[in-house]
Amino acid sequence: MYNFFMDKKKIFIIGGGYAGIRTLSHLSKCEDVELFLIDKNSYHYLQTDVYDYIASQINLSDIAIDLYTYCASYEKNVTFLHEEVLRFDLENKKIITTNNRYRYDYLVIASGSQTRLPDSIEGLKENFHGIKSLENALLFKQKFEYFIYKKIENEGKCSLDINFNIVIAGSGLSGVEIASEMAHYSRTFYKDMGYLCSGITITLINSHEKLLASNSAFMQEKAEKRLNDLGIKIIKNARVTKVMESYVILNNSQKVDMNFLIWTAGIISSDLVLNMQVAKNKKGQLEVDEYFRLKEYKEVYAIGDNANVFDPTSKSSLPPTAQAAELGADYISQNIINEVSNKKLHVKSIKLKGFFASLGGKFGCGEIMDYITLSGKTAYIFKKLIEITYRFPLQQRCKTGLKKIRAIID
Ligand SMILES: Cc1cc2nc3c(=O)[nH]c(=O)nc-3n(C[C@H](O)[C@H](O)[C@H](O)COP(=O)(O)OP(=O)(O)OC[C@H]3O[C@@H](n4cnc5c(N)ncnc54)[C@H](O)[C@@H]3O)c2cc1C
Repeated sequence: MYNFFMDKKKIFIIGGGYAGIRTLSHLSKCEDVELFLIDKNSYHYLQTDVYDYIASQINLSDIAIDLYTYCASYEKNVTFLHEEVLRFDLENKKIITTNNRYRYDYLVIASGSQTRLPDSIEGLKENFHGIKSLENALLFKQKFEYFIYKKIENEGKCSLDINFNIVIAGSGLSGVEIASEMAHYSRTFYKDMGYLCSGITITLINSHEKLLASNSAFMQEKAEKRLNDLGIKIIKNARVTKVMESYVILNNSQKVDMNFLIWTAGIISSDLVLNMQVAKNKKGQLEVDEYFRLKEYKEVYAIGDNANVFDPTSKSSLPPTAQAAELGADYISQNIINEVSNKKLHVKSIKLKGFFASLGGKFGCGEIMDYITLSGKTAYIFKKLIEITYRFPLQQRCKTGLKKIRAIID
């Protein structure tokens, strides 16, 4: 049983992703609250760095931050609950999990998104690989490495060796980064190790004319040039309509051979949010007011990929990014602290600071505040700095938390 302090406001954060742990970090400084982070996984998955993990540039411990030790690093007002939330009873302010029922004063829904797999595409669910979950990314990496091993085993029989085809559907940030990193990795692997065989073909299927459709013309051009230089085949203005074990069919009737299909063509809210009976958009994202609260339930906030964040400047929804998730967390945390201390709430719009894409090896492109553009190694260094500045403090916190736990046990 958890010892709830009666006089403190109980705030439950659902999801220990980018939005959830940033909210936790801010609210932990407020003494008048008791904080509970609930996640179905015991770790925070750094999706933004997964392309480096697949290309063996970083370790599993670099993309999975342990939530137990992370939360233990805070003062006593933070508790981590490793449970899956099944549903909410918003009328009675209750959370129903696999193990328990909890009553909240404030609820922050930050349960993220999942890969969208349209039912209309025959064979997709049976034959796709995804990277939105750590488990799927890990399985994909293992299969990919096993394939490389088989190629090594067959060394010297290259003339008999058939090509290995990886198809990536979706050319947003995740599709482009995975495609370029894998192309770079498989090329340098053969070159650096002195193997004869090659023959990995990477095909990117793009439903638009341009790659990175949500980004600037500068990033679109840089990405396309880099992917071409890496030998990635780009098929434009096409959609996958059918997936079989060894090939995909496109809407223009083209057949593309494949041994692996990586699906990065769109996201939809977490199942938890999809099952909620409140207003949502086509992606299943919760409709929120100007303070990121559900219109019908003012004590319920929603941020990150599971919320529809409207940008008044562009007059459209913001693309789902870790950056928007974190900025949303900054914003709601201040307002929750204001609410708890009976102060006025502030309206603030989210302004993204820029975008960076890693494009294989030490190459990237990016832009800051719409007017500074970078490409090549400089952009790559910027992107790495962003990743390290995010990851390092989390790892340090885990170390502190681990020491605290050990001190209690010993
Ligand atoms: C390959 C790739 C590259 C990307 N690159 C970038 C980039 O360069 N820059 C950028 O800004 N964004 C990038 N993104 C997007 C970014 O990762 C997401 O926008 C971000 O993860 C959203 O954060 P979130 O906190 O909303 O959700 P998440 O980080 O997905 O966290 C949601 C959490 O909720 C938990 N959860 C879900 N359901 C339940 C439940 N029922 N009960 C309990 N817990 C639950 C999950 O376990 C998870 O821990 C990339 C994404 C991918 C896949």
